[in-house]
Amino acid sequence: MRLNVIPFGTSAGRPTLQRGASALAVVDETGWMLCDCGEGAQLGAMRAGLSLARLDAVLITHLHGDHFNGLPGLLGSLGLDGRSRPLLVAGPRGIGKLLEELGRAGALGLGDMPIELIELEGDGGPLPSIREGSSLSVVARPLSHRTPTFGFRLSQADRPGTLDVTAARARGVSSGPQFGELKAGRSVRLSDGTLVSPEGLIGPVQRGTCVAYTLDTVPCAGAIDLGRNADLLVHEATYEHARAQLAHERGHSSGQEAAEVARTAGARRLLLTHFSPSVDVNEVAAEAQLIHAQAVAAQDNEPLEIVSS
Ligand SMILES: [Zn+2]
Repeated sequence: MRLNVIPFGTSAGRPTLQRGASALAVVDETGWMLCDCGEGAQLGAMRAGLSLARLDAVLITHLHGDHFNGLPGLLGSLGLDGRSRPLLVAGPRGIGKLLEELGRAGALGLGDMPIELIELEGDGGPLPSIREGSSLSVVARPLSHRTPTFGFRLSQADRPGTLDVTAARARGVSSGPQFGELKAGRSVRLSDGTLVSPEGLIGPVQRGTCVAYTLDTVPCAGAIDLGRNADLLVHEATYEHARAQLAHERGHSSGQEAAEVARTAGARRLLLTHFSPSVDVNEVAAEAQLIHAQAVAAQDNEPLEIVSS
């Protein structure tokens, strides 16, 4: 199975002419979710041709402005669109009060849109089901930054293998409901009493794709946990490794450290993001590639297709 990842902003702290503040879309055929919502995120969605009406959830890692400041504007646009379908918003404890204050000041303009708010604390955990029909589920885990911060693991549900309809017909199955039973892995009894089992008629299970999103953080166990065997780990890489000490003082990682996290976690691919405006991104990526061959630097509005192994 596959999904698309589209970075809308890959800069740390503040936007530059080339890079916006942190935001990244995870898109599959059933809908999409936004990881972080730095200013400019909704413009990124427009450029990518993503409909805000299909947005299921906004997952905020922490409340620093470069990850949050786009949210009031995005919510206002959804309100103006007249959306009445709830939007799930998850973020660290305190995000509810912040939104409440903004709402009281008239800064949100939600209209009739309800927000399903999830305040994260402690060890995080699985988020409640996003929406019936969405194939994406989310788990949150704490990261290690200067303020309470949570990373996310977004997983597509596995899909049952496809039914070989021709082979099933050859064995005498003809009715739609019986095809459905076989697809669900159950045997069916034909009118002449013959029992047809799904064995040999169903292809292999299609594994869902998994993306982990871990910023801002120093290298930490939470990021390794979230990135375990992921098809893609998105990890912050604020500085080149020569400034790793500075990175740690500010609660960040170098690209090389992001690659070490990805390697330890067994993540198949690594997307580096959250670059300080002062770094040479090519150097950060080159350092990471020495550790993890499938590391690349994210570029704003350049989508990546991620396919499950
Ligand atoms: Zn940041």
